[in-house]
Amino acid sequence: MRALSARDLLLVWEQAERQRPQERALALLAAGWPEPAPAAAELAALSVGRRDARLLALYRQTFGPALDLVAECPACREPLELALDLDALGVDAEVAAAEPEPVEIREGGLRLVARPPTAADLNAAAACAGVAAARRLLAARCVLAAERDGEPLPPGALSDEEIDLLSRRLAASDPQAEVLLDLSCPACGHAWQALLDAAGCLWHEVDAAARRLLREVHVLARGYGWREADVLALSARRRRTYLEMLAG
Ligand SMILES: [Zn+2]
Repeated sequence: MRALSARDLLLVWEQAERQRPQERALALLAAGWPEPAPAAAELAALSVGRRDARLLALYRQTFGPALDLVAECPACREPLELALDLDALGVDAEVAAAEPEPVEIREGGLRLVARPPTAADLNAAAACAGVAAARRLLAARCVLAAERDGEPLPPGALSDEEIDLLSRRLAASDPQAEVLLDLSCPACGHAWQALLDAAGCLWHEVDAAARRLLREVHVLARGYGWREADVLALSARRRRTYLEMLAG
């Protein structure tokens, strides 16, 4: 992935502001993808673990290794702010370059071969009413082969327990799809685990950076008569210095 420039940041911010989270994750990914630009279908076909590893790599290259998180203690509702070190998280975009292998499950007379869900699958599942319907749809899309006692089995004939087993095995096969954080509350001592929302964290930072940039363009354009493109072409260091001079 390559770091987002000031211009990239504003472009993707404008594009993704009104999108749903799944589409937004892909827009962010496309913005930081190295040349040549990827086809939308190529991005949507990434497994969720591969997608999130790349989003975290993009975060690291654009904003540095410290990831600011806001959480709420589920026991006492105390808000919690913490800085995660992305380098210590063990998420590696290089490792993530290879797609995970399909998973094979043999349980009693059941045999299933399935691939981990992709962003396109999650997009489809997000339109379902309820978690149970979404998991059935994911099973229908991700199961490549299914047999019971040697007979072909339509994915719709899987029981809830079998779908649950499938979800757990797929999650284990694409570990970066679920980065679990161990959190503890300084106020009440409660300890819990939370899922890292890579796209949400990156979007939060892009949104803040874009709003900051627009304020800087506003002040510098008014102060010096420069055009937006001129201001965006400056390094952050130069923008800051000119802003200090205007203020001083
Ligand atoms: Zn607490």
